[in-house]
Amino acid sequence: MACTSDTVVAGIRAVAAAVAEHRDELVRLDREIGDGDHGENLNRGFTAVVAKLDPVPATPGAVLKLVATTLISTVGGAAGPLYGTAFLRAATSVGDAADLDGLAVANALQAALEGVVSRGKAVVGDKTMVDALTPAVAAAESVASTGGDAAAVLGAAAEAAEEGARSTTPLVARKGRASYLGERSAGHLDPGARSTALVLATLAAAAR
Ligand code: ADP
Ligand code: MG
Repeated sequence: MACTSDTVVAGIRAVAAAVAEHRDELVRLDREIGDGDHGENLNRGFTAVVAKLDPVPATPGAVLKLVATTLISTVGGAAGPLYGTAFLRAATSVGDAADLDGLAVANALQAALEGVVSRGKAVVGDKTMVDALTPAVAAAESVASTGGDAAAVLGAAAEAAEEGARSTTPLVARKGRASYLGERSAGHLDPGARSTALVLATLAAAAR
């Protein structure tokens, strides 16, 4: 499968639609252990992104960079800078390649994770998006190392992210707003981990 800027734009459009569809779910999750704005924040950001995708940027990297700068300037809260950094690092990772293979996609996910960690300083088990993204990167690298294409890499990443997101439910939050709740944060799915799994599942479905 070719993963060109047209493919990436189609994937990002699908992500925007999925975020709009799941807006209320993300708001509800963030109400339980945060301030309830996560769904609204992401929906505002991806709506702004879609408005900028015509004309289609020349390369996948240019698409990812446009997503990054738009999210950084339109999404508030913790998630805006974190998602923005993730897309920015992914953009840098893919460079000006015209077509991404499985390895390029896995490397971009790895770069995205490194960006989130360098910005937010969360580790696995802190009950954040890092709990979804870390296993996603490991799964992506494993599939890429055996020659999997972009769709296969994203499929594996999405599955691992979903499981990683679910693993946040029993955890006590140690980073972000939810950490103010201490023990009371346990028993709730982390909204950022949920949205990360949603984004990866949507990109995987678009790539198939
Ligand atoms: P805010 O908490 O400022 O209202 P959002 O509600 O948009 O921002 O995003 C909350 C999500 O951000 C959390 O569910 C968590 O996954 C993620 N998050 C918060 N702080 C961090 C951090 N330091 N590192 C990684 N992710 C974080
Ligand atoms: Mg919030």
